Amino acid sequence: MKKFLSLALILLLAMGMMVGCGGAQEEPAEETPEATVYNIATDTTFAPFEFQNEAGDYVGIDIEILAAIAEDQGFAYELNPLGFSAAVAALESNQTDAVIAGMSITEERQLKYDFSAPYYDSGVVMAIAADDDAIASYADLTEKKVAVKTGTEGATFAESIMDQYGFELVYFDESPLMYEDVKTGNSVACFEDYPVMGYGITQGNGLKMVTDMEKGSSYGFAVLKGKNTELLEMFDAGLTNIRENGKYQEIIDKYIAAE
Ligand code: GLN
Repeated sequence: MKKFLSLALILLLAMGMMVGCGGAQEEPAEETPEATVYNIATDTTFAPFEFQNEAGDYVGIDIEILAAIAEDQGFAYELNPLGFSAAVAALESNQTDAVIAGMSITEERQLKYDFSAPYYDSGVVMAIAADDDAIASYADLTEKKVAVKTGTEGATFAESIMDQYGFELVYFDESPLMYEDVKTGNSVACFEDYPVMGYGITQGNGLKMVTDMEKGSSYGFAVLKGKNTELLEMFDAGLTNIRENGKYQEIIDKYIAAE
Protein backbone atom coordinates (compact mmCIF):
# COMPACT_ATOMS: atom_id res chain seq x y z
CA MET A 1 0.00 0.00 0.00
CA LYS A 2 2.77 2.39 0.94
CA LYS A 3 4.56 1.51 -2.31
CA PHE A 4 1.38 2.07 -4.30
CA LEU A 5 0.88 5.48 -2.72
CA SER A 6 4.38 6.64 -3.49
CA LEU A 7 4.04 5.36 -7.06
CA ALA A 8 0.80 7.30 -7.44
CA LEU A 9 2.56 10.37 -6.04
CA ILE A 10 5.42 10.00 -8.50
CA LEU A 11 2.94 9.61 -11.35
CA LEU A 12 1.02 12.67 -10.24
CA LEU A 13 4.21 14.69 -9.96
CA ALA A 14 5.33 13.56 -13.40
CA MET A 15 1.98 14.53 -14.90
CA GLY A 16 2.17 17.86 -13.22
CA MET A 17 5.60 18.44 -14.70
CA MET A 18 4.38 17.46 -18.15
CA VAL A 19 1.47 19.89 -17.88
CA GLY A 20 3.89 22.52 -16.72
CA CYS A 21 6.18 21.84 -19.67
CA GLY A 22 3.30 21.89 -22.11
CA GLY A 23 2.22 25.27 -20.79
CA ALA A 24 5.71 26.65 -21.09
CA GLN A 25 6.04 25.42 -24.65
CA GLU A 26 2.82 27.12 -25.70
CA GLU A 27 3.87 30.47 -24.28
CA PRO A 28 7.61 30.79 -24.70
CA ALA A 29 7.24 34.61 -24.43
CA GLU A 30 6.67 34.20 -20.69
CA GLU A 31 10.30 33.21 -20.21
CA THR A 32 11.61 36.45 -21.74
CA PRO A 33 9.63 39.43 -20.43
CA GLU A 34 8.93 42.05 -23.11
CA ALA A 35 11.27 45.02 -23.12
CA THR A 36 9.78 48.43 -22.25
CA VAL A 37 8.99 50.59 -25.25
CA TYR A 38 8.64 54.16 -24.01
CA ASN A 39 6.05 56.39 -25.59
CA ILE A 40 7.62 59.81 -26.16
CA ALA A 41 5.43 62.72 -27.25
CA THR A 42 6.61 65.59 -29.41
CA ASP A 43 5.32 68.62 -31.33
CA THR A 44 4.04 68.26 -34.89
CA THR A 45 5.95 71.11 -36.58
CA PHE A 46 8.64 72.98 -34.69
CA ALA A 47 11.62 73.16 -37.04
CA PRO A 48 14.54 72.72 -36.59
CA PHE A 49 13.64 70.66 -33.48
CA GLU A 50 10.94 68.43 -34.97
CA PHE A 51 9.40 68.44 -38.42
CA GLN A 52 8.62 66.04 -41.25
CA ASN A 53 11.00 65.70 -44.20
CA GLU A 54 9.79 65.19 -47.76
CA ALA A 55 9.42 61.46 -47.14
CA GLY A 56 7.13 62.22 -44.19
CA ASP A 57 9.64 61.04 -41.59
CA TYR A 58 10.19 63.03 -38.43
CA VAL A 59 13.60 64.72 -38.33
CA GLY A 60 15.20 67.56 -36.37
CA ILE A 61 17.40 68.28 -33.37
CA ASP A 62 15.05 66.77 -30.76
CA ILE A 63 14.39 63.70 -32.89
CA GLU A 64 18.09 63.03 -33.50
CA ILE A 65 19.16 63.77 -29.93
CA LEU A 66 16.53 61.32 -28.67
CA ALA A 67 17.60 58.66 -31.18
CA ALA A 68 21.29 59.08 -30.30
CA ILE A 69 20.58 58.91 -26.55
CA ALA A 70 18.32 55.85 -26.92
CA GLU A 71 21.05 54.11 -28.90
CA ASP A 72 23.69 55.07 -26.36
CA GLN A 73 21.58 53.88 -23.41
CA GLY A 74 19.89 50.96 -25.17
CA PHE A 75 16.24 51.81 -24.65
CA ALA A 76 13.37 51.46 -27.10
CA TYR A 77 10.74 54.13 -27.75
CA GLU A 78 7.90 55.09 -29.97
CA LEU A 79 7.65 58.71 -31.17
CA ASN A 80 4.23 60.29 -30.67
CA PRO A 81 3.88 63.63 -32.53
CA LEU A 82 0.83 65.16 -30.87
CA GLY A 83 1.44 68.90 -31.03
CA PHE A 84 2.85 70.91 -28.13
CA SER A 85 -0.09 71.52 -25.80
CA ALA A 86 -1.49 68.03 -26.53
CA ALA A 87 1.89 66.48 -25.71
CA VAL A 88 2.01 68.28 -22.36
CA ALA A 89 -1.61 67.30 -21.65
CA ALA A 90 -0.79 63.66 -22.51
CA LEU A 91 2.11 63.75 -20.07
CA GLU A 92 -0.10 65.17 -17.36
CA SER A 93 -2.76 62.47 -17.85
CA ASN A 94 -0.25 59.62 -18.04
CA GLN A 95 -0.93 58.94 -21.74
CA THR A 96 2.74 59.32 -22.59
CA ASP A 97 5.99 58.66 -20.72
CA ALA A 98 7.90 61.79 -21.67
CA VAL A 99 7.92 64.92 -23.83
CA ILE A 100 10.71 66.20 -26.07
CA ALA A 101 9.35 69.22 -27.95
CA GLY A 102 11.63 72.21 -27.52
CA MET A 103 9.98 72.36 -24.10
CA SER A 104 11.24 75.22 -21.96
CA ILE A 105 12.30 74.44 -18.40
CA THR A 106 10.25 77.03 -16.52
CA GLU A 107 9.87 77.35 -12.74
CA GLU A 108 6.14 76.83 -13.02
CA ARG A 109 6.54 73.62 -15.03
CA GLN A 110 9.15 72.29 -12.60
CA LEU A 111 6.38 72.00 -10.00
CA LYS A 112 4.66 69.38 -12.17
CA TYR A 113 7.42 67.80 -14.26
CA ASP A 114 10.96 66.57 -13.80
CA PHE A 115 13.32 67.87 -16.49
CA SER A 116 16.59 66.56 -17.84
CA ALA A 117 19.66 68.78 -17.87
CA PRO A 118 19.08 71.67 -20.31
CA TYR A 119 20.12 70.74 -23.86
CA TYR A 120 19.46 73.97 -25.80
CA ASP A 121 19.18 77.67 -24.82
CA SER A 122 16.19 79.61 -26.04
CA GLY A 123 14.20 82.81 -25.68
CA VAL A 124 11.02 84.40 -27.02
CA VAL A 125 10.86 86.88 -29.91
CA MET A 126 8.17 88.84 -31.75
CA ALA A 127 7.85 88.35 -35.51
CA ILE A 128 5.83 90.32 -38.06
CA ALA A 129 5.13 89.98 -41.78
CA ALA A 130 8.29 90.54 -43.86
CA ASP A 131 6.59 93.36 -45.83
CA ASP A 132 5.18 95.15 -42.76
CA ASP A 133 6.77 98.53 -41.97
CA ALA A 134 4.15 99.68 -39.45
CA ILE A 135 5.26 97.61 -36.45
CA ALA A 136 8.59 98.45 -34.84
CA SER A 137 7.95 97.82 -31.14
CA TYR A 138 5.40 96.34 -28.70
CA ALA A 139 3.76 99.78 -28.46
CA ASP A 140 2.67 99.43 -32.10
CA LEU A 141 0.55 96.41 -31.17
CA THR A 142 -2.11 98.54 -29.44
CA GLU A 143 -5.65 97.59 -30.49
CA LYS A 144 -4.26 94.96 -32.85
CA LYS A 145 -4.42 91.16 -32.81
CA VAL A 146 -1.40 89.07 -31.91
CA ALA A 147 -1.05 85.33 -32.66
CA VAL A 148 0.34 82.91 -30.07
CA LYS A 149 0.64 79.13 -29.67
CA THR A 150 -1.42 77.60 -26.87
CA GLY A 151 0.47 76.67 -23.72
CA THR A 152 3.86 77.97 -24.84
CA GLU A 153 6.39 80.27 -23.22
CA GLY A 154 5.72 82.70 -26.10
CA ALA A 155 2.02 82.79 -25.19
CA THR A 156 2.86 83.34 -21.51
CA PHE A 157 5.13 86.25 -22.42
CA ALA A 158 2.48 87.84 -24.69
CA GLU A 159 -0.13 87.40 -21.92
CA SER A 160 2.20 89.19 -19.50
CA ILE A 161 2.39 92.35 -21.67
CA MET A 162 -1.03 92.37 -23.40
CA ASP A 163 -2.71 94.69 -20.89
CA GLN A 164 0.20 97.09 -20.80
CA TYR A 165 0.20 97.47 -24.62
CA GLY A 166 -3.53 96.87 -25.14
CA PHE A 167 -3.56 94.09 -27.75
CA GLU A 168 -5.75 91.04 -28.20
CA LEU A 169 -4.53 87.43 -28.46
CA VAL A 170 -5.48 84.79 -31.00
CA TYR A 171 -4.51 81.22 -30.04
CA PHE A 172 -3.28 78.45 -32.36
CA ASP A 173 -2.18 74.86 -31.71
CA GLU A 174 0.57 74.77 -34.32
CA SER A 175 3.37 77.20 -35.17
CA PRO A 176 2.70 77.28 -38.96
CA LEU A 177 -0.96 78.27 -38.36
CA MET A 178 0.21 81.13 -36.17
CA TYR A 179 2.61 82.37 -38.90
CA GLU A 180 -0.17 82.11 -41.50
CA ASP A 181 -2.41 84.34 -39.38
CA VAL A 182 0.30 87.02 -39.44
CA LYS A 183 0.93 86.67 -43.18
CA THR A 184 -2.77 86.97 -44.04
CA GLY A 185 -2.91 90.10 -41.87
CA ASN A 186 -5.47 88.93 -39.32
CA SER A 187 -2.79 89.25 -36.64
CA VAL A 188 -0.02 91.83 -36.93
CA ALA A 189 2.54 89.83 -34.96
CA CYS A 190 3.25 86.52 -33.26
CA PHE A 191 5.51 85.39 -30.43
CA GLU A 192 7.73 82.38 -31.05
CA ASP A 193 10.94 80.83 -29.72
CA TYR A 194 13.97 82.65 -31.14
CA PRO A 195 15.83 79.58 -32.55
CA VAL A 196 12.65 78.42 -34.29
CA MET A 197 11.81 81.83 -35.74
CA GLY A 198 15.43 82.41 -36.79
CA TYR A 199 15.47 79.08 -38.60
CA GLY A 200 12.03 79.69 -40.15
CA ILE A 201 13.10 83.06 -41.55
CA THR A 202 16.18 81.51 -43.21
CA GLN A 203 13.81 78.93 -44.70
CA GLY A 204 11.63 81.71 -46.14
CA ASN A 205 8.59 81.63 -43.84
CA GLY A 206 7.71 85.20 -44.89
CA LEU A 207 8.24 86.80 -41.48
CA LYS A 208 10.87 89.09 -39.93
CA MET A 209 12.04 90.12 -36.47
CA VAL A 210 12.16 93.80 -35.49
CA THR A 211 12.72 93.58 -31.72
CA ASP A 212 15.32 91.92 -29.50
CA MET A 213 14.86 88.44 -28.06
CA GLU A 214 13.32 88.28 -24.57
CA LYS A 215 15.21 86.19 -22.06
CA GLY A 216 13.73 82.71 -22.03
CA SER A 217 14.34 79.26 -20.62
CA SER A 218 16.43 76.38 -21.97
CA TYR A 219 14.89 73.26 -23.43
CA GLY A 220 14.68 70.01 -21.49
CA PHE A 221 13.27 66.50 -21.78
CA ALA A 222 10.31 66.15 -19.40
CA VAL A 223 8.63 63.34 -17.44
CA LEU A 224 5.81 63.61 -14.93
CA LYS A 225 7.14 64.47 -11.46
CA GLY A 226 8.42 61.33 -9.72
CA LYS A 227 7.54 59.07 -12.69
CA ASN A 228 9.78 57.37 -15.28
CA THR A 229 12.84 58.28 -13.21
CA GLU A 230 14.84 55.51 -14.90
CA LEU A 231 14.07 56.99 -18.34
CA LEU A 232 15.07 60.46 -17.14
CA GLU A 233 18.33 59.15 -15.69
CA MET A 234 19.12 57.37 -18.98
CA PHE A 235 18.36 60.58 -20.91
CA ASP A 236 20.76 62.58 -18.73
CA ALA A 237 23.49 59.94 -18.89
CA GLY A 238 23.10 59.65 -22.67
CA LEU A 239 23.12 63.44 -23.09
CA THR A 240 26.44 63.64 -21.22
CA ASN A 241 27.85 60.87 -23.44
CA ILE A 242 26.76 62.38 -26.75
CA ARG A 243 28.10 65.77 -25.66
CA GLU A 244 31.45 64.11 -24.92
CA ASN A 245 31.68 62.00 -28.06
CA GLY A 246 30.78 64.86 -30.42
CA LYS A 247 27.43 63.46 -31.58
CA TYR A 248 25.46 66.30 -29.95
CA GLN A 249 27.49 68.98 -31.76
CA GLU A 250 27.21 67.07 -35.02
CA ILE A 251 23.40 67.17 -34.73
CA ILE A 252 23.32 70.90 -33.87
CA ASP A 253 25.67 71.72 -36.77
CA LYS A 254 23.54 69.74 -39.17
CA TYR A 255 20.50 71.89 -38.43
CA ILE A 256 21.80 75.22 -37.15
CA ALA A 257 25.46 76.22 -37.13
CA ALA A 258 25.98 75.00 -40.69
CA GLU A 259 23.10 77.19 -41.99
N1 GLN B 1 9.64 76.45 -25.89
C1 GLN B 1 8.25 76.74 -25.86
C2 GLN B 1 7.61 76.20 -24.61
O1 GLN B 1 8.11 75.30 -24.02
C3 GLN B 1 7.50 76.29 -27.11
C4 GLN B 1 7.57 74.83 -27.37
C5 GLN B 1 6.84 74.41 -28.63
O2 GLN B 1 6.08 75.17 -29.21
N2 GLN B 1 7.06 73.19 -29.07
O3 GLN B 1 6.59 76.64 -24.22
